[in-house]
Amino acid sequence: MVSMLDSDIKFLQGVGPRRAELLQKELGISTFRDMLYTFPFRYIDRSKFHSVRDIDSTSAYIQLKGQITSVNLVGELRGKRLVATFTDGTGYIELVFFQGIKWMQEKLRVGPEYIVFGKPSIFKQGYNLVHPEVDLATNENLGMTGYLTGIYSSTEKLRGSGIGNKVFTKLQSTLLNQVIDSISETLPEYIMEQKRLCPLRYALRNIHFPTDLQALAKAQKRLKFEELFYLQLSLLKQKSIRMKSSNGVILNKLSKGFNTTYNNLPFPLTEAQKRVIKEIRADVISGKQMNRLLQGDVGSGKTLVAILSAMMAVDNGYQACIMAPTEVLANQHYNGVFKFIEGSGVKVALLTGNTKTKERKAIHAGLEDGSINIIFGTHALIEDTVQFKKLGLAVIDEQHRFGVDQRSKLWSKSKIAPHILVMTATPIPRTLAMTLYGDLDVSVIDELPPGRKPIQTVHLTETRRGEMYAFMRKQIKLGRQVFIVYPLIKESEKMDYKNLEEGYLNITEEFRQPDYITAVVHGKQKAEDKAFDMNLFASGKANILVSTSVIEVGVDIPNASVMIIESAERFGLSQLHQLRGRVGRGAEKSYCILMTGYKLSEESRQRIDLMCQTNDGFELAEADLRMRGPGDFEGTRQSGLAIELHIASLSKDTPVLEEARELGIKILKDDPYLNTEMNYILARELKNMKEELKDYSKIS
Ligand code: ADP
Ligand code: MG
Repeated sequence: MVSMLDSDIKFLQGVGPRRAELLQKELGISTFRDMLYTFPFRYIDRSKFHSVRDIDSTSAYIQLKGQITSVNLVGELRGKRLVATFTDGTGYIELVFFQGIKWMQEKLRVGPEYIVFGKPSIFKQGYNLVHPEVDLATNENLGMTGYLTGIYSSTEKLRGSGIGNKVFTKLQSTLLNQVIDSISETLPEYIMEQKRLCPLRYALRNIHFPTDLQALAKAQKRLKFEELFYLQLSLLKQKSIRMKSSNGVILNKLSKGFNTTYNNLPFPLTEAQKRVIKEIRADVISGKQMNRLLQGDVGSGKTLVAILSAMMAVDNGYQACIMAPTEVLANQHYNGVFKFIEGSGVKVALLTGNTKTKERKAIHAGLEDGSINIIFGTHALIEDTVQFKKLGLAVIDEQHRFGVDQRSKLWSKSKIAPHILVMTATPIPRTLAMTLYGDLDVSVIDELPPGRKPIQTVHLTETRRGEMYAFMRKQIKLGRQVFIVYPLIKESEKMDYKNLEEGYLNITEEFRQPDYITAVVHGKQKAEDKAFDMNLFASGKANILVSTSVIEVGVDIPNASVMIIESAERFGLSQLHQLRGRVGRGAEKSYCILMTGYKLSEESRQRIDLMCQTNDGFELAEADLRMRGPGDFEGTRQSGLAIELHIASLSKDTPVLEEARELGIKILKDDPYLNTEMNYILARELKNMKEELKDYSKIS
């Protein structure tokens, strides 16, 4: 159904092609609907005035009333700016303009009273306001300030091109007046009644232009609930479709593969591992297709769960694949599996981007004729040329590294859809996990194998590098091995490699052969070199491994007990925790040293402090969620939600999320296909939702 809301934003009065392009580029607004659903991120009461004296670092947007005492053009060329000194009688503050200088120069006069509105930034010893809105304090303008004004997010570019908050607000007002009468209600009456929600039109009007705080609260409540409700409803519907179709491969036999592996284990499984294996087994004999997320902190032993699950497939004449996000990790899984499967007669193989053509062909053939039972590998597994005879189970390790598309490709590899097990060490709350990853069941390994000693984490600044070297010597003398990791962030890849190379040189200077052997691993190496150096370290021949964060996920070398992270401030919390998880796997006490520069941003300091305080992945994940919101959850952004969230926050609105889920469950229980009269709006909206048809049940 085409509606006025689908109109190109350039057709809105006051926009036009040039502004349309900017709005699209800077805020992703290309249609009327996009604009209408761009809500203010906060509101200020413009009847109140701040005083200059009281400005401090916590001041967000403020409004001042006073006079300009001087206007000066300062600086040259690109640094050229207009600086006006402003006072309200309690103190002075500078108003600074880098763009639109001529216009402002004509507008700003010494003498008359102005209303100034902007966000203070710290400048030298005090504060200034960059590109504030400045209006004469006329009666008319003062009258306008009588109610809540929405503040929309903006960018430097938009402000510089004259689309400040005032202009944006004006555009919203034009839009709202034009479209509001044609907007149809998107929730059925009975839901609005039951949940005490205001109508959509009222909500949209008041989210942009609240008449008062109460109206704003009503609008927010309605819009949040609606978003989360439709999100849940679409996920639940996918799930009910999956649960109804009985197309799951049945893997009920346990025989030589599983039993031999189980008997080969050098240690008992933890209770948590046993429980999860039982959950998986219940799924694979149910006749329904499994779609399960396995969460377990780093080192909790997820790999073994994967291998034992793979054996369930093999024992029933099916194949299994275990996909890892990096070459190093795929290699490790493969090399590590032999000691467990010895004597089982199960045939395993490894396929990565570096597998030689001849071998690759043989592997393709082996997968097609079924002679290979378990295949380990990287993205190479999802290439179109890879086909299985009978794929029964696909395991995806460290799933946050894979995008939705990549994962969904696995699906089409065999005639019947395989069971899917995704494993992650990034713990997130259950409802959130289901929301982020779509329709799946969640298992948790909440227990580490016995005997693990907590890792001691310390933070050192550059000036204490000498101490760090001394500590390394001591540890190496005790027979331990040391990881040194450098950040690798795409945007500054060249610089990062330079840092790594310099770091490697420094280390080999400091720790000379033949007393010390240092291996190096990074993404720019040839596969053979990488494998050689990795092996040097894994076999215990090298004392030190210098690498980029390629070793972040999964690498398992129990004798390595020291993890040094260079420029630690550049890593996110979950990444730091992953890296730290590379040590603390053996019997020895382990250490993690976070090296940073002396100056740190507030946020970096918080991250580093948290790391030093706790080893608990769940605690860190929660802190991460608080600090950054789930939108930034490592890699989850790419997995994409079924619905774009404009106002609801998955981390802050968890109670609403759960309420919405409950309502969704209830509705679908009574009306699974949403074809009753009272739910026709729901069916219509679900259909309208752009992304809805992406089949999330198949994507994990
Ligand atoms: P992760 O969950 O991070 O992938 P791994 O599967 O790599 O963890 O396991 C970490 C280490 O713990 C491996 O060396 C593995 O052999 C060992 N391990 C796994 N399960 C157990 C257990 N039940 N008891 C003792 N060690 C175990
Ligand atoms: Mg792992």
